[in-house]
Amino acid sequence: MEFTFVSGHLALDLAATLTWRSTYPIELLAGPQDLSAWIGQAGLADVAGRVGDADVERMRELREAVYRTASADLLEQRPRVGDLRLISRTAAGKQVTPVLEGLGRAAWHGNVDQALATVAHQACVLLGSSDYRRIRSCADSQCTRLFVDHSRSGSRRWCDKSACGGRANAAAYRRRRSQHSPP
Ligand SMILES: [Zn+2]
Repeated sequence: MEFTFVSGHLALDLAATLTWRSTYPIELLAGPQDLSAWIGQAGLADVAGRVGDADVERMRELREAVYRTASADLLEQRPRVGDLRLISRTAAGKQVTPVLEGLGRAAWHGNVDQALATVAHQACVLLGSSDYRRIRSCADSQCTRLFVDHSRSGSRRWCDKSACGGRANAAAYRRRRSQHSPP
């Protein structure tokens, strides 16, 4: 499984492992292998120890708490207290530990618990600062991916220019062509 990391923040990339939420949701963290792969591809850690179904369940719970909290402001809702507590409690755990091997080279070690704590900690940094105001939902009506708009103008619309943005541009191009070309 190849995961995508285009949200500009790891916690929102985690939130996107349940895709197409409003139409045909696809669960990308379907089992322990997926969770190991996500943690590795996220650059979080070389996961030591066994990854089990209970770990997948805990990561999904964290993910949903992050998603609901990160999208609350966009929906003009207040975040749920239970979600804030779950994220905080998870973030209080021991994080992955680095071994600095040289300039530009570090290895990150930890187990699943430490990976969870690290993502939750990063979620707290995003959601607990004014950066939460930069969280957007992709302009594609079906995508439902959240991202952080790091652009200076604050006008980024797509989670991924080449995927969702590209699809929208192609559709607009087809519309223009069909309007301007003779039948
Ligand atoms: Zn998108």
